This record gives sequence, C-alpha cells and structure tokens, in this order.
Amino acid sequence: MKEVATTCPYCGVGCGVLATTDGTQIISVRGDPNHPANFGKLCSKGSALHLTARPDDRLTAPQVRPTKAAPLESVSWDSALDFAVNQFVEIINTCGADSVAFYGSGQLLTEDYYALNKLARAVVGTNNLDTNSRLCMSSTVAGYKATLGADAVPTCYEDVDHADLVFIAGSNTAWAHPVLYRRLESSVKKPRVIVIDPRRTETAAQADLHLPILPGTDVPLFHAMLHWLIWEEHIDRPFIDAHTEGFAELRQLVREASPSVVARICGVPEKDIITAAQWWAESGNVLSLYCQGLNQSVSGTAKNTALIALHLATKQIGRAGAGPFSLTGQPNAMGGREVGALANLLPGHREASNADHRDEVARLWGIPTIPETPGKTAVEMFDALERGEIKAIWIACTNPAHSMPDLTRIHAALRKAQCVVVQEAFASSETIAFADVVLPATTWGEKSGTVTNSERRITRVTAALPPLGDSKPDWEIFCAAGLRFEKALHPQRASVMQFPNPQALWEEHRAMTAGRDLDITGLSYEILASDGPQQWPYTTASTARLYTDFKFSTANGKAKFVATPYRATADKTSNAYPFALTTGRMRDHWHSMTRTGRNAHAFGHESAPQVWMHKDDMTRRAIPADAWVRVRSARGSIVVKVLAHESLRSGQVYLPMHWGQSFLVGQHNLGINTLMPAAFCPSSKQPELKHAAVKIEVVKISWSCASFVSIPAAQIEAMRGKFLQHASALTAAYAIPIAGEASGIWFEAVAETPPDAAWHATLDAVIGDGETANLEYADSNRIDARKLWLQDDALVAARLTGAPYASESAQWLREMMLTGLPIARVRKWLLAPRPPAAMIVASSPIVCACFGVKRSAISETLAAIDGAPQARLATLQTKLQCGTNCGSCLPELKRSVTEIPFTKIMAVMQ
Ligand code: SF4
Repeated sequence: MKEVATTCPYCGVGCGVLATTDGTQIISVRGDPNHPANFGKLCSKGSALHLTARPDDRLTAPQVRPTKAAPLESVSWDSALDFAVNQFVEIINTCGADSVAFYGSGQLLTEDYYALNKLARAVVGTNNLDTNSRLCMSSTVAGYKATLGADAVPTCYEDVDHADLVFIAGSNTAWAHPVLYRRLESSVKKPRVIVIDPRRTETAAQADLHLPILPGTDVPLFHAMLHWLIWEEHIDRPFIDAHTEGFAELRQLVREASPSVVARICGVPEKDIITAAQWWAESGNVLSLYCQGLNQSVSGTAKNTALIALHLATKQIGRAGAGPFSLTGQPNAMGGREVGALANLLPGHREASNADHRDEVARLWGIPTIPETPGKTAVEMFDALERGEIKAIWIACTNPAHSMPDLTRIHAALRKAQCVVVQEAFASSETIAFADVVLPATTWGEKSGTVTNSERRITRVTAALPPLGDSKPDWEIFCAAGLRFEKALHPQRASVMQFPNPQALWEEHRAMTAGRDLDITGLSYEILASDGPQQWPYTTASTARLYTDFKFSTANGKAKFVATPYRATADKTSNAYPFALTTGRMRDHWHSMTRTGRNAHAFGHESAPQVWMHKDDMTRRAIPADAWVRVRSARGSIVVKVLAHESLRSGQVYLPMHWGQSFLVGQHNLGINTLMPAAFCPSSKQPELKHAAVKIEVVKISWSCASFVSIPAAQIEAMRGKFLQHASALTAAYAIPIAGEASGIWFEAVAETPPDAAWHATLDAVIGDGETANLEYADSNRIDARKLWLQDDALVAARLTGAPYASESAQWLREMMLTGLPIARVRKWLLAPRPPAAMIVASSPIVCACFGVKRSAISETLAAIDGAPQARLATLQTKLQCGTNCGSCLPELKRSVTEIPFTKIMAVMQ
C-alpha cells in the first residue's frame, strides 16, 4: 500500500487528495492536510472519488467504425491512429486545415492541453481549437482582460479569512465549491454575506442578505449599486483618477440606474439594493465570489465587468480580503488558458489575433507561422460542423453530446460529420455514439502532470495506478497523432511533437511564459514536489495576490471601467413559454455524471430527474405532486418529474444540468440542454446555459413501471445501459445505481401508450437474467403486473407495472432488497398492491452522504430538540453524526435547525 498525492478532478477549488493504492486499485482517499486549497478537507464528491475509480464502463481498447453504418470494432493503437489521422489528412488536403477542428476540456492536465494546442496550431495548422472552458469561464476571461488587462484572478483563498463582506453573485458556492464555502463558514472574522441569485439556494439561505433577482438582471443591479455609491459619495476618487480610466462613461451610463428604477427590472425591493450598496460602502474589505450565474449569459462579459467596476470604484482590490474572485468551474480551466487552449488564445496568455504574438509563438515553436484565420469557438464550431464547413472533429475528455446548448442541433451536427474522433475514458459518454474512432484515455488516478486551480495555484498530480487496459494518457495520444500528422503534412520539417514525458511538455510551456503576466520561469517540477503547490507568477517565489501596487496588466498600467448597457436574456418569457428556467448543480454530482454517476451514494440526496416549480404555479395549472411533465422550449422538450420547491419564486422553474441520455431517455429526451439556447455573449462567445423560456405540460401517463435489480457494483454500468436502451422509445425513463447492504439499479419509466407484451418479456429477461420470476401477479392483459425474483429467502429483483404502479410498494420492496432482510415473515405482502401502512418506507433523501442520514431522520430528531440553533445543531450531530465529516450537508442542517420544532408549533396551537 502507498499513498499518492494528487488533486480532486471536479471543481476549481482544486483540493489536494491523498489516494491510497495497492497498485491495482485505489482503496481510499483523504484530503491532503498540507495542500493550501483544502488543508485536509474534501467535500462529498471528493471524498467518494475512490468509489468511482472502478474498471467497469472504462474504455480500454481503441475502436474504429469502418463505415458510418457499421458498429465500432476493437483495433490496435496503430490502426486507430492511422485511421483517424488519414481521415483528417484527406479532408485537410482537399478542403484546407480549417475544415477540421479540435475540442478539448477543462479537465485535461496542463501538459495534455499544451500538446493539443501544438498539435492543432503548429502541426495541423488551424486555430479551430476550443475547449469546454468556453461554456464555463470565457466570460471571466473576457471580463478580467477588459478591465484589469490580463486573464488573472487577483485574489486567493486566504482572502476569505480577511474579508468583511463576501458578495456572492451567480454561485451556489455551498454546493459548487463546497470546501471554499466551508472556509467561509469557519472564518473567524464572520463576514457579512450577500448572495445574488434568482433561487434561494443553500448558499442564499445562509446569507445575511439575499437578492433573488430575475434571471439575467445582474448588470442593472451592479449599475444601481454603483449609482448609489456615486450618489452617496462612497467611491474612491483619488484611486479612480490615479489608477483607472473610463469612469466618466460608466458614470454616465449608470446615471439613470437608480435603485428605485432598477428594483423593477430586477424584481427585488429597492431597499435591498440600497442595503447591498450600503454594506459594500461600509465594509473594510469586500471580496466578491462569482461563477456561472454571471458567465453563462449573453451578457456574461458585461456582468463580469460591471461587478469589477464596483471593486475599482471603491478601491476594493489589491489587498488582503478584497477583490473580484472568479471561481473556476472546472479543475484545470485555468491551466488550459495558460497554454492558450481556447480559439482566441495562444500559449502564455498571448492573443491569436495579435500578429506579433503569432510571430513570437511561431519562433518559439520553430515553425514558419501560426495560422491567421480566427478559430471557431465552441458554438461556432458545431454550427460549422452542421453546415458542413467543418467536416471532422477531434473531441477529447469532454461530452458535447450532453453539455452543449440546443442539443438537437449538436446531435445533428455530429451525425453529419465525416469523421468524429472521441478521446475518452468512459463508455457512458453520450458522445461515443457519434464516434468513428474511439481512443481510450486514462483518467483520474492514472494521470501525471499539473493543474492550476481558481487561485492560480499549480499542483503536481501523480498517477496512483498504471493506465487501465490499453488506455493512454491524453498528452501521449496527442503526441502520437501529432507525429503522424507531421509525417503526412510536413514531411520535410523537423518534428515539434517529440515529448518523452509530461515534464518535457511542461518545461516547454514554462519557457513560453517568460516575461508574460503568468511568468513561471522560476518554477520546476522539483520545486512543486519539494515545496508543494505554488501560485503564478513565480519568477523567484509564489504570488498570493496581484495588483498590490495598483499597476494593472494594461498597456498603460491603468485598470479600465467598461460601460456596457443592460441586455436581457436571449429567451423572453411569453404566453407561449411563460416560465423562466434556470439550471444548476446537484450537490453530489458533477457535469454529465460519467464519473459521479458510478457512485450510488451520490444519488441519495437527489435521486430522480425533476424540474423544480413553485407550488402556487403547480396549483394554478393543476399539476399534481410527483407528476411527469413535459418541459418545452422553442428548441425541444424533455419529460421529467415535477417537484414543488420553496426555493423558487412563482414564474420560475429549475433543472439540474446533469441529466443526459446516459441516465434519462425517452422519445425526445436528449438531455437537459435540449432546452437551452445557443445564443452567446458577443465578447466571450460563452453560451447562455443558465436561462431558457419554457412551458410545462402534464404528460397523460397511461402506463408506468418501477423496477430494481440487485447486482454487483462492477455490473451496474452495463445493466443501466441495458435498461435504458430498452426504454428509449417510451415517453420517459431513467435508471440510477442504488446501494445499501446490496447494490443494484433502480429504473422508472412512463408511457402515454403502454408497451406491448413482448416489450415486457424482454425487460423481464434483462431483470431476471434469463430466470423466470418466483412470484407473480398479472391482470388479464399482463400489463398491470408485479413480478419478483427471489434467491435464498432474499428479494433480488422486481418489476411493477401498471397504471399507476404502487409506488409505496416499489419503495418498500427496494428497501427490502437493499437491506438484504429475509422475506419469510413478509412473504404474504410481497405481491400486495400496497404494503401494510406500518411497512411503508417513506422515500426520504439522504442529506448526509458520509453517514447515510436521511432527511426524515433529521426532522424526527429535531422535533425532539429545543434550544438555540447552534445548540440544536450540536445535539443533532451528536445523535446522528450528520455533518461531522465532509460538511457538504452543513448548510442544509443549519437551515433545518433554524426551522421551528414541530413540538413547539403544536404547543402554540394547543
Ligand atoms: Fe473536489 Fe469538492 Fe474540493 Fe471541489 S471542493 S475540488 S469537488 S473535494
């Protein structure tokens, strides 16, 4: 056994992880106590990493689809790479280098990115290289560059300890960046917290002030705050005069944006806008934390620049506890930007549109030129694929068939492509279905290199395991492909893709940063190993904060105010589409769930695809609780369950972003992003994944099915695929892993027209693995039926179908299976339409993932605990242990203990 230092592959907090391995598998993980991002803490996602590091569902051999109609076939690496490169070269020779494209990921390591960038620009000769960071951080990049002159976060995590006011905008930090939120919760200074979010998220619920603005109205809100700060003379005029420019234009723009006017636009009280501005003015240090609520918007850059303007106008920057802190969504989105892995960038924070920068990079790379034609950004790239302008695409470590907006068009574009290469670790990625070539890549636990987290901190990542099967690290695949491209396209030229290991790539990247704002020429792999993670720039030492001398990265050293007027969301609500849909994260999941979806415990907190809706809207529209509804936008529709939720105002609905075809299928269910518009911010080209106008219609269900089967964890992924494949023609169906004493799959499906008997027979064959059921009830047409499979006095599988199926029975039976209880004593109830009331197991979400504590147990325990909230929390934790490990459930527990105990309500009522 040994412990290997790596990082968590999920959010941009970039927590250090120590993984214990026996050389064949990762046995456990713990937070690295010496890593400055987390000091030993991990959230519910990070602390379950070892549960996701299983070999099943991994891609372990290269595959090729010889013709579009043929299935994928396993081939050797040489054959797969030759096939892919030959297809690309043929297209390039006929139609030019810009007829191919490369699309990467914020989850690649910096070394992977560097090799990909060089492959695309230096070898293939196209700027058509973008990554899913375009969907995540490009508005931040554009905002920082427009105001402070460089794509550089000026702050660091330690600033949370020094802030007097933490201004959180468009971020459910408690769920999206949990370990940083833990740090905020435990800050000795106990800063005031303001949250700007259309929803009352867990972060908003804990805030001192929550402004639930209407979606997309952040710019007018920030303008109104600036208006008040100017009017009340709380701006720092000497600082503005000495260190900034452009203030007069912005002042002119916000002249009419009084809090009373803007209150109507934002849908929040005028007094709350004034309070927010007042707290900003009277706080010694103001730190803002922001994320996708600002970035994923048609006015993403304007939202960023308007918030940064508040910092500049009040000199809240360049010292401990103050500054605009963009929280990176993905673990290494910043590393990708460092090496220039976005269409508009070049290595070392250079610009692809700058001729001097292109010449400089060409010289450093030893090639004649860098192509001049601007590269296509993510949405533009897939549009060009759909038009046939781009004919081949190489996709690495990302899942655009799930994550891009307007999925119907994305799927059409991928189907139309002449060649789709997918470099991927997991077979469950929706994009695999479109692949002509599949290149199996290594993933977390098997990779070595570096990542950069939200605070510019570079960490060495060390592999704990060898590559699984025949998979290879991404950098190695890019280099191997690069050598083949060189041979075909530049046979006379010296190779630029000869790298023996990740360190060689990183050292070339390091050389490219000399003299740039992110200069790391003083850093080395050895220093990272001996001194731990370091923040750039690093010429002689790590740099915690930027602009402490108020010299900004612009040509004249002055920061810039940007005056951009308010622009509403791309979709407008209307009679046809009356609801404003926003999207976000589930607490324990990540992106398209290719990794977290392997951990059954991660579904304990939220276990079904549900659209959240205000209960008054449900009442007005006669939508029953738990109904299946069709959510429809101008672009398409999906069918999911509905959930009444108090976190939304009337007229708004919410969907988690994670549900794609790997978990949710149906006649039209391509995934949540089917609904979202492809409209993007004109400056950053980041699409508006946070808002769509939708309608909600109840689906008239005539048949439903609930089923589960007990199987070993290693077979769950394959079984999930079988269930969903069989259900794809139904109205809607989802399948998730479940776990208790046993592990298995839970499957639920609905249809407007019942499937026939043959469909049921095939499902039974899947469930029973060829064995007939041991107990059975069926009506005359065998559609309304209950079938159970038993083994040694234990329930191992069930299928309940009918109109509607007895949901309590399904829940009860599932608990029987998961706990492995002997069924002898309850045998007579097994086929009953409803179990006896005493046996009904109420479905209750698991709030504490570490100790499996359900919300029902928390409510019951709290009902018997009186006292102040802090004391109630302490007693609750002592009794149930919840919230005593990773702390991801603490915000929900804190909210729960402030609710009035049921006993007291009863006492008052009597
Ligand atoms: Fe991973 Fe959680 Fe840390 Fe983010 S906060 S890096 S998800 S452990």
